[in-house]
Amino acid sequence: MRAFEVVSARDARHAVALLAERVPTAKVKVLAGGTDLLADLKFASSSHAPDVVIDISRARELGNISLTDEGLSIGALVTHTEIMRSPIIRDLFPALVDAAHTIGAVQTRNLGTLGGNLVTAVPSVDSGPTLVALDARVTLLGPAGERSMPLADFFVGPRRTALKPDELLVEILIPKENLGKPACFLKFGLRKGQALALVNVAASVWVDWDTQAFVAPRIALGAVAPKVIHASTAEAYLEGRAIDQEAMAEAGRLAVGDAKPINDFRASAEYRRDLIAVLTRRALEGAYGLAQKWRSEKT
Ligand SMILES: Cc1cc2nc3c(=O)[nH]c(=O)nc-3n(C[C@H](O)[C@H](O)[C@H](O)COP(=O)(O)OP(=O)(O)OC[C@H]3O[C@@H](n4cnc5c(N)ncnc54)[C@H](O)[C@@H]3O)c2cc1C
Repeated sequence: MRAFEVVSARDARHAVALLAERVPTAKVKVLAGGTDLLADLKFASSSHAPDVVIDISRARELGNISLTDEGLSIGALVTHTEIMRSPIIRDLFPALVDAAHTIGAVQTRNLGTLGGNLVTAVPSVDSGPTLVALDARVTLLGPAGERSMPLADFFVGPRRTALKPDELLVEILIPKENLGKPACFLKFGLRKGQALALVNVAASVWVDWDTQAFVAPRIALGAVAPKVIHASTAEAYLEGRAIDQEAMAEAGRLAVGDAKPINDFRASAEYRRDLIAVLTRRALEGAYGLAQKWRSEKT
C-alpha cells in the first residue's frame, strides 16, 4: 500500500472545503466507515492510490435520521446497524431494515454507512433497490452549494455515480408523498449471509382500496444491469391494474425484459432471469401484503 496523507474533517462543510483545496492537485478519497475503501486502498495500484484521504467520520450532522417537511431524511453517515435499529425506519420502511440486515456481517453493518454503500455503487448494492423503489433522492454538497437528484440517476454504471470529485453525498431523502408506502425487499445470494446478491429486488405499492388496484407501483432490480434499474415495463403494466396473482406474475415476467443479466462465475444469465421473475412477483406480494396488514391495523 502506498503512503498517503489523512486529514480529518470537522463537519461536512469542512470536508467540502478540504476537497475544494486538494482535488485540483491531488488524488483524493473520502473515508466514511472504510469497509469498501480500506480494501480498495490495500489492493490499489500505485497509479490509482490516493495522495490524500479525507476522513468524514466525525461529521456528526451526517449521522441523523429524521422526519422533515420534505420527507424522511437519512444522513450519509448513518450505518446499516443504525438503520436496523431506527424506530422511525422500522415503523415506516421495514424493507429498508430487511435490506440493511442482508449487508455483510455484524462488523460490516456496524461500520458501513448508507452513503458509502451508495457511492461504491456496485450493481448488487443492497440498499439501492428499496430506495429506488421509494423514489429516494440524494443531496450532494459541493463548493457551489447543494444539489439534489433522484437516486436512480445518481447511479451511472458499475462503481460510477454522478458525484463530482469535489462533492460529498450528505443526505438520502425519501419524499414525503412516499412516507409509509408499503415496500418489500428480497435478495437471493449463494448463501444466506455474507453473500453478494445474484439478484435483489424491491417493490413498493400504494393501493386504491375502492377499486382494488395498484397505484404508483415501483419495482427496482439490482445485480441484473450495470446499475440499479426500474423495471419500467412492469411498472407501467401494473399502474391502475386490478390486484391479483396473475397481474403480479405477469409483472415478474415483464421485469425480466427490463433487465440485462450477465453470465458470471456466480450464476448464468438464464438463472438470473428466472430469479427476476420469481423475486419480482414475491416482492409485489410482500408489498401488497404489508399494505393489507397496515390497513387492517388501522381499522
Ligand atoms: C465483508 C464485507 C461484506 C460486505 N457485504 C455487502 C453486502 O452484502 N451488500 C452490500 O451492498 N455491500 C456489502 N459490502 C460493502 C460495504 O460494506 C458497503 O458498501 C458499505 O456500506 C460501505 O460504506 P462505508 O462507510 O464503509 O464506505 P467507505 O469504505 O468509507 O467508502 C466507500 C466509497 O464511498 C466513498 N464515500 C463514502 N462516503 C461518502 C460520502 N458521504 N460522500 C462521498 N463519497 C463517499 C469513499 O470515498 C469510497 O469510494 C461488504 C463489505 C465487506 C467488507
